[in-house]
Amino acid sequence: MEPASMIDTIRKKHIKFIVVTGGVCSSIGKGVLVASIGVLLKKAGYSVAVVKWDPYLNVDPGTMSPLVHGEVFVTQDGAETDLDLGHYERLIGINVGRNSSVSSGQIYQEVLTAEREGKFLGKCIQLVPHVVNATKQRLLNFALDQEADFVLLEIGGTVGDIEGEVFLEAVRQLRIELGKPHLMHCHLSYVPLLSWTGEVKTKPTQHSVSELKKAGLVPDALFLRADCDLDGHVVDKVSMMCGIDKNFIFRVLTYDPLYRLFIELDQQQVCKRIQEYFGYTLQRTADLSDWKAFIAAIDKSTAPLRIGLIAKYVGSNDPYISVIDAIRSAGYAVGYKATVVVIEAEKLEQGGYDADTPTWKELKRLDGIVMPGGFDNRGIEGKIFAARWAREHNIPYFGLCLGLQVMLIEYARSVLQLKDANSTEFDDSIKYPVVNLTSQQQRVTHKGGTMRLGSFPCVIQKDTKAYQAYKQEMVWERHRHRYELNNDYRQAFEQAGVCFSGVYKDRDLIEIAELNDHTFMLGVQFHPEFQSSPLQIHPLFKAFMKAAIAGNRPSPIRGG
Ligand code: GLN
Repeated sequence: MEPASMIDTIRKKHIKFIVVTGGVCSSIGKGVLVASIGVLLKKAGYSVAVVKWDPYLNVDPGTMSPLVHGEVFVTQDGAETDLDLGHYERLIGINVGRNSSVSSGQIYQEVLTAEREGKFLGKCIQLVPHVVNATKQRLLNFALDQEADFVLLEIGGTVGDIEGEVFLEAVRQLRIELGKPHLMHCHLSYVPLLSWTGEVKTKPTQHSVSELKKAGLVPDALFLRADCDLDGHVVDKVSMMCGIDKNFIFRVLTYDPLYRLFIELDQQQVCKRIQEYFGYTLQRTADLSDWKAFIAAIDKSTAPLRIGLIAKYVGSNDPYISVIDAIRSAGYAVGYKATVVVIEAEKLEQGGYDADTPTWKELKRLDGIVMPGGFDNRGIEGKIFAARWAREHNIPYFGLCLGLQVMLIEYARSVLQLKDANSTEFDDSIKYPVVNLTSQQQRVTHKGGTMRLGSFPCVIQKDTKAYQAYKQEMVWERHRHRYELNNDYRQAFEQAGVCFSGVYKDRDLIEIAELNDHTFMLGVQFHPEFQSSPLQIHPLFKAFMKAAIAGNRPSPIRGG
């Protein structure tokens, strides 16, 4: 379809766009704001689709370091995407796919491929119009494909970044083409408090709005991100200096838990104003009762529980954001306030197994251990030590992807007596490769997007812990890995007390393993954390939490 007729169809179908940009600095929570707007609209009965434009040149974040970019969120259709897509799925309660994650890299790749194919017929290829047009085209295709009442678009990065200019230009043009009543531009901006004077400062926000004006955009709504309440004078001043209607200036404060933001924004009439902006005559209100009930459950969950996360990356929690969220939410669901204790795997290696070190002392105080996914051998031996500790001391253990592989390597070494058993990912000359590459993966040469990615079916065996949790014979779970359990060792594991309770039948690959003789030592080859959300906790996280609670009593072994 030609762009002009696409625009026409979008108008006729009454599809509305809400674009969110961010100002002053990064990490102020654009993703959470987009998700919150999505929650309000969805709870008011509208259908919502979300897309994020990221200004970096990588095709996707799959090959970026989690310490640089945070967790890589995997969609059902197998795309490796930004962690904000996880916020959208978990909070709004929608399923996003690969088309919801667009990077500058993808757009340049598309334009350059078309150029090499001779599609531009001798023209000089330029940012404007060619790259801008390709960007707009993606959004229009997405909108027509989704047919949602509202398409929310988050623009990654901060206004003023060189990388983001093409995106702002695309929004500017779309606004003209679609017409104002079809596109609302919201800008989230930081308002700092100067501790030495006790004043809040609006100047950075004014500057970021003038950056937008330079790009030809005047936002329709401002969301002021602050750490302390902002009085009416601040709103008046921002309204005057930036030229934005006071009714469309909202406060986004720091809330604990952050779900309170939905309630706060609703009280500030965000949902009402959005409908007003788009000219809806019949106003709908958001029914936030389930979020209110969840917040009440959090307030009541005071009993402590210490869950260890054996991590490779320490410093920022972003690499494990879905896992941490799943642990905490599962805790609240069973009435406990779970503290996630991040334990650096490499530190467990210092001094050997059960060493007299602060890190080992920390490990011994845990009520449960979660072994998250990961790549490369840094900290692997420390992780294997933690799995051994959990097995020997009957501490609930939940292994996610690499966490399953670690659990089986440890079991092979200690119980099957296969000394030095390992994964070929960490040592490809080993005698006992209990985890290795399938023949399919051995042929792979490129790194990006070539793992086993996305949703695969898993058949659950009855009378197992996995079945007790799922209460279903077949489930779909999301994958992101190259290595698998080596089936040559399957029988040996089974004879030694491992139950393979979940299998991907088509390729006879192990999906879930659990120890018969343990309170809860279970590993999965997939990432259940991507399908756990506060209002719908993943059954395995819940089962793990219940096991952790059952063992949550002072014990001489755990050292108190
Ligand atoms: N590195 C392992 C693999 O590729 C595990 C990956 C993961 O934990 N996501 O199989």
